[in-house]
Amino acid sequence: MCGIVGYVGNKQATPILIDSLKKLEYRGYDSAGIAVLDGENILVRKAKGALKMLEQRIANETIKGTLGIGHTRWATHGEPSDINAHPQTNISGTIAVVHNGIIENYAKLKEWLQSEGVVFRSQTDTEVIAHLINYYYEEDSDIFQAVLAALSRLEGSYALAVICSDYPDRIICARKECPLVVGLGNGENFIASDVPALLEHTREVHFLDQNEAAVLY
Ligand code: GLU
Repeated sequence: MCGIVGYVGNKQATPILIDSLKKLEYRGYDSAGIAVLDGENILVRKAKGALKMLEQRIANETIKGTLGIGHTRWATHGEPSDINAHPQTNISGTIAVVHNGIIENYAKLKEWLQSEGVVFRSQTDTEVIAHLINYYYEEDSDIFQAVLAALSRLEGSYALAVICSDYPDRIICARKECPLVVGLGNGENFIASDVPALLEHTREVHFLDQNEAAVLY
């Protein structure tokens, strides 16, 4: 189990992500991380340990950006560590992914991506998703199609959220076997693994269906 959150709107994303993660900490607490897009670049901050370790890590910096994703992890593949914490990214850091679930065929995909020249940094199954999206994005340069193409290669379970620095206005999310809820606000939208993380912001929630994907603006 892990907790996923996401925010897109016109408020600063970081405090909203951290607050929402607090409400999901029961889902995982061996490490936590956020990725915030400032309109141009994705800034990733992660820390092993409880969420307060991440809070301490970012306490003295201003992380600007009105769009972001966050994760509180309960490791299945790869020990709890800063590197294995989510978000996981592609090599250039232009695509960031948070994931709840298990990619059963990750070893095969990893081997194939390595044969394509990809150098892996973590031991997670999740990292293959970031590199797969990157692979299809290089072919097609449509991030939504690239995510769908990557998902079509995955066996196993996932709820995930993806951001890409070329698309500073949107979050892409999808689920299979793991829960994901979209919260609709006024000029802002949210995602979370579970409703309590959304209630402070909106009562209008939509439970993503099995195999459903969504783009949040
Ligand atoms: N399999 C992923 C990892 O180990 C996500 C874990 C989970 O959802 O529990 O990082």
